[in-house]
Amino acid sequence: MINQSRIEEAVKLLLEGIGEDVSREGLAETPARIARMYTEIFSGMEENAGEHLSKVFAVDNNEMVLEKDIVFYSMCEHHMLPFYGKAHVAYIPDGKVVGLSKLARTVEVYAKRLQIQERMTAQIADAIMEYLSPRGAMVVVEAEHMCMTMRGVKKPGSLTVSIATRGVFAENPAMQEQFFRLLKA
Ligand code: ZN
Repeated sequence: MINQSRIEEAVKLLLEGIGEDVSREGLAETPARIARMYTEIFSGMEENAGEHLSKVFAVDNNEMVLEKDIVFYSMCEHHMLPFYGKAHVAYIPDGKVVGLSKLARTVEVYAKRLQIQERMTAQIADAIMEYLSPRGAMVVVEAEHMCMTMRGVKKPGSLTVSIATRGVFAENPAMQEQFFRLLKA
């Protein structure tokens, strides 16, 4: 459970740690504001992808479904700085599909946590495999990490790309090629 008063205490300590005067006017509301904001940006902690992926529809057509350019914002667990970009999510149904908005919801569930990009990518693919039992799933995430661009190596605009393949996508490179063809289409 997200504990707002603990977050507030921690932010006060942080402000003191960087040498700020926590009582100055501009900072008076900051701890409470950040606590409320964290409740939103870490809301995936209290959510389960199964809630979104369990409403399935039967289909006869088992061709690839690709939902591309799903914009997401997440927070890197090493620096607690944002990383953000696009997720492209595909699966080959095995008789059942979900509404397309549910794929975006699933991305949100895993993005709104402290994350590393590689794990988030894998978790999205694994959730689709678990709840839809498709013939395969593939997820590609491209993101800019603020811990890379505003500090450290400072390479603005550099993108980190991560891929997870499951089922037929893992077994058959031709399926991955079809994914990338559809992505460019
Ligand atoms: Zn980082």
